[in-house]
Amino acid sequence: MSEQHQLCFLNGEMLALSTAKVSVLDRSFLFGDGVYEVIPVYDGQPFVLDTHLQRLANSLSAVRMPCDFDFAGLVTRLIEENGGGDMAIYIQVSRGAPKERNHLIPADLEATVFAMTQAFPAPSERAMKTGISAAICEDFRWQRCNIKATSLLANVLLRQQASDQDADEAILERDGMITEGSSSSVFALIDGILRTPEDAPILLPGTTRDRVIDVACDLGIEVVSRGISKAELYLADEVWISSALREVMPVTRLDGRAVGDGLPGPVWKKVYRAFQIAKRTC
Ligand code: PLP
Repeated sequence: MSEQHQLCFLNGEMLALSTAKVSVLDRSFLFGDGVYEVIPVYDGQPFVLDTHLQRLANSLSAVRMPCDFDFAGLVTRLIEENGGGDMAIYIQVSRGAPKERNHLIPADLEATVFAMTQAFPAPSERAMKTGISAAICEDFRWQRCNIKATSLLANVLLRQQASDQDADEAILERDGMITEGSSSSVFALIDGILRTPEDAPILLPGTTRDRVIDVACDLGIEVVSRGISKAELYLADEVWISSALREVMPVTRLDGRAVGDGLPGPVWKKVYRAFQIAKRTC
């Protein structure tokens, strides 16, 4: 961990990350009973902050966790205290630590609010030059993937399943249709049209995805939110993933086969360049 990202926030206090502690009875520890956000920061400015905070509010409301907290103020404070520049902010809200373990949601429990920063992970040169690989895996997660919940065991296992096949990301398929990546949204360029699955409870509404759509539309690319079948993905001219920390990346190998000509495509290159400008000027 770099010197810059030593200070975190826990329940009202800024403190050294190495000394931050939560109770073993915390429900996020026992049940994965919490929600989170990851917010990219460029030149000291949080990127699409309102969208992230709205999604956090939606997640909190969906899991019946009322939390009256100034998250925008927390983001500003974390950026200032950790030196500004480019970084990633992680915010987690757990239901809190009751006196005993019980599945039932306790009344009047105070939430545990934790946040930290990390260096923004620069994409590898290899990924940018040759693209990344993905494996299509059966999406065996629950039906409420639109909630950004800390209970990520299925995503962890799916990502590992892809890694076991030497793939960088798992692209998930449910009943023959693509949902998303294990920690990313998915795009496919098919017959000159950029497609991404429409919002549904079985996938997370990606904040980066929305910005990529804006950037692509500004470039005159036709974009539609419509289901992509597994068969269509194999035949797509370009496949991309997007996320707050990976921005928009070309997938050039899918289940060991080349996507298009096996190199990052021309449409991705245009959108990637425009995204690099958009992220520093919004
Ligand atoms: N889908 C899943 C399952 C994710 O975990 C993520 C990000 O972590 C995304 C999509 C992309 O969301 P965002 O662009 O807001 O990072």
